[in-house]
Amino acid sequence: MQIEFQEYVVCGVISEVSGVATLMLTKEDGTVPPFVPGQYVNIFFPETRTSEGKAYSISSAPSESTLSITVRAIGEFSNRLCSMRPGDTVRASLPYGFFYPEADDSELVMLAAGIGIAPFRSMIRHIAKYTLSRRLALFHSVRTLSDAIFLEECTELRQKFPNFSLTHFVTRDAEVQNEYVIPHRIEPTDILSRVSDVSRAEFLICGSISFTRDMWRGLRKAGVNEEKLYTEAFFSH
Ligand SMILES: Cc1cc2nc3c(=O)[nH]c(=O)nc-3n(C[C@H](O)[C@H](O)[C@H](O)COP(=O)(O)OP(=O)(O)OC[C@H]3O[C@@H](n4cnc5c(N)ncnc54)[C@H](O)[C@@H]3O)c2cc1C
Repeated sequence: MQIEFQEYVVCGVISEVSGVATLMLTKEDGTVPPFVPGQYVNIFFPETRTSEGKAYSISSAPSESTLSITVRAIGEFSNRLCSMRPGDTVRASLPYGFFYPEADDSELVMLAAGIGIAPFRSMIRHIAKYTLSRRLALFHSVRTLSDAIFLEECTELRQKFPNFSLTHFVTRDAEVQNEYVIPHRIEPTDILSRVSDVSRAEFLICGSISFTRDMWRGLRKAGVNEEKLYTEAFFSH
């Protein structure tokens, strides 16, 4: 597929946790292209050999005046993105992708590993603005709580919206343990026991290939219908 790239301007850069930055972008005319929460843009650097660029999920809501991507610096593309400054320009595609729920009133169960929280932040912000009655459950797997991207924002939303539940699964040093912080890897049983109505829920899974595969298999085994499962795999392991 031939992807069309356009110039975007970096309007702001926010340092989230160590090694993770959010870039706020607009098109050169100051606008933001329309998109559905869950979609991504392809970023293209002309001097690299990747002709189609690399994908970065949109982490802002469609109503915002800038389009954000949230990037973990681990290699060539991501390090370049994380070192960008306001006023820099970057080539990016229009939004693409199908990682979003079919229904608009289902209970949304979001399973993220690490940087896999990016598309969910877009969905959560969008829903928090328009449909406060919708039930949302975010399960975020992190190494330590200090690696938990958007921790403060998500905690504030949990405190504000009774319909939003937030649980962190901490795989290394869990200094805090309570009903919101569980000191082990996510297991499908942990998820299903925290979902109010599994038959009305849609499950979205985002992270490494192994995380999305394990969660998908676990939920299928626990009886979740294949049509209710959506995955977005970021990395090869
Ligand atoms: C649909 C889609 C959406 C994506 N959205 C995002 C996003 O919102 N934010 C984001 O940061 N990335 C996202 N990615 C990943 C992104 O496209 C790049 O693959 C990533 O930034 C690495 O590219 P790089 O050139 O920096 O590193 P590379 O030089 O390609 O990678 C260096 C090495 O690190 C490995 N690696 C990559 N990620 C990890 C990891 N998390 N843990 C351990 N090893 C890893 C790679 O397999 C590779 O071996 C997304 C990918 C897809 C397919």
